Amino acid sequence: MKKILLLLMLYTIIILGLPLLITTILHPKPQSTSAEPIDTITTFVALEDKVVEMDFSTYLKGVVAAEMPASFHTEALRAQAVAARSYTLRKMADYKRDGNPNVHKGADTCTDPNHCKAWISDTELHARWGADYDANMQRIAASVEDTAGIVMTYEGTLVNAVFHSTSSGQTENAKDVWGGDVPYLVSVVSYGDELSPRYSSDLTISAAEYKSKLTAAYPDAHFSDGDTLVREILRSQAGGIKELTTGGITLTGNQFRELFGLRSTNIQFTQSSTSITMAVTGNGHGVGMSQYGANYLASQGKTYEEILKTYYSGVNVQPYTSN
Ligand SMILES: [Zn+2]
Repeated sequence: MKKILLLLMLYTIIILGLPLLITTILHPKPQSTSAEPIDTITTFVALEDKVVEMDFSTYLKGVVAAEMPASFHTEALRAQAVAARSYTLRKMADYKRDGNPNVHKGADTCTDPNHCKAWISDTELHARWGADYDANMQRIAASVEDTAGIVMTYEGTLVNAVFHSTSSGQTENAKDVWGGDVPYLVSVVSYGDELSPRYSSDLTISAAEYKSKLTAAYPDAHFSDGDTLVREILRSQAGGIKELTTGGITLTGNQFRELFGLRSTNIQFTQSSTSITMAVTGNGHGVGMSQYGANYLASQGKTYEEILKTYYSGVNVQPYTSN
């Protein structure tokens, strides 16, 4: 009887312990300070129309969960956690210096993805994930906890760690998209983006609809019959549209993308006598880390540090220091 019990215990240890051991070998815990640089943060939660105070790590988990699928590889999630931490601390320092934006209602951050980073509450995550909540949250929480206190810096300053869903195979220079030169946000080759479900998309509309949409938003635009709808396209090194001329006016790639609700500015046009097709590659602004690219690199055995250094040129990945 004792022997059977002993054997049973041994089996239990092997069955439960082996996967843990494999996980530990494959994904060793990174060196971290095991403490976040700040304890708490306040965020303006638009959905609830109120400012909420929470642990900094709780905030970061809500950002990672909102910004990246929990099914992504461990090292990609860790890269996302470090990017989110760096971005948030950098923005807080900027706001402290330049004044807090009104949309924050006095809080350190907000949950508007177009202003700060997307953030999702635990209640919403329960609703979104249902029965998968525990497993998913365990992965998200680990990405933040395993990298606690780790940030990216460039020449001693926190990095403005912008990221996007899917690149076109090459990321964009920040300068080509927003105008400001940022030495670590330069165009790099990105692999595996074509595996993203958002890599290719297209929109075909009639020439008449195209013209009416454009003139509604830009009353100065005018067309003559037989016009080439889009001309004088100025592209970035990565292929995104910096500027184009349509209906006699010049628009930036961002303005054009927004007007037609396209996923990126990397657009190829095909015009027939009655319609225009816009074939789009990638999803998002294309600057900094590509999340699908990061997931591909993680699948190829790269660490979160290697992933971050691929997308943010010349940065250090290190524990946060206040100076
Ligand atoms: Zn904000």
